[in-house]
Amino acid sequence: MKKYDYLIVGAGLFGSIFAYEATKRGKKCLVIEKRPHIGGNIYTEKIEGINVHKYGAHIFHTSNEEVWNYINQFAEFNNYINSPVAIYKDELYNMPFNMNTFNKLWGVKTPKEAKEKIEEEKSKANITNPKNLEEQAISLVRKNNI
Ligand SMILES: Cc1cc2nc3c(=O)[nH]c(=O)nc-3n(C[C@H](O)[C@H](O)[C@H](O)COP(=O)(O)OP(=O)(O)OC[C@H]3O[C@@H](n4cnc5c(N)ncnc54)[C@H](O)[C@@H]3O)c2cc1C
Repeated sequence: MKKYDYLIVGAGLFGSIFAYEATKRGKKCLVIEKRPHIGGNIYTEKIEGINVHKYGAHIFHTSNEEVWNYINQFAEFNNYINSPVAIYKDELYNMPFNMNTFNKLWGVKTPKEAKEKIEEEKSKANITNPKNLEEQAISLVRKNNI
């Protein structure tokens, strides 16, 4: 008689959900995990009452209602808005770039003024053959809409 229907290597999101769904369908699963905890890269450690992401911060986002309803059976979610900032020459700037960023950088107030300024900066930079990521980013700016 077989002992297990599935041997699942890794108790991260994929392995855990697979095991959960297969078990619900009457399958017998064995999950093996090399780390001393489940959860894989989304694992959090409780430190002084706070869930701290051990392997780097994770934010859950989906526009799929079915996924959202499914995931809510496992955990309670906080409402969180990701608003990163960048520091450049001791000044804080909104990320991703928006009109606040352009206003702070160049004093421009409208998307048209910002586009003109970006074009000006690009032609000043005169990059035809980008040599690094920064140059590549500058040379690609025209492809983005403000
Ligand atoms: C720093 C960071 C930030 C991230 N931020 C986000 C985010 O904000 N939003 C988002 O949606 N996604 C984010 N991700 C991606 C997300 O973590 C992964 O998509 C998700 O965790 C993948 O799940 P998984 O089960 O496929 O793999 P993992 O979580 O990697 O789980 C695999 C598990 O398998 C185990 N394992 C591997 N090999 C073996 C073996 N031979 N024997 C036994 N066990 C084994 C591992 O120890 C691990 O626990 C981020 C990832 C990182 C690293």
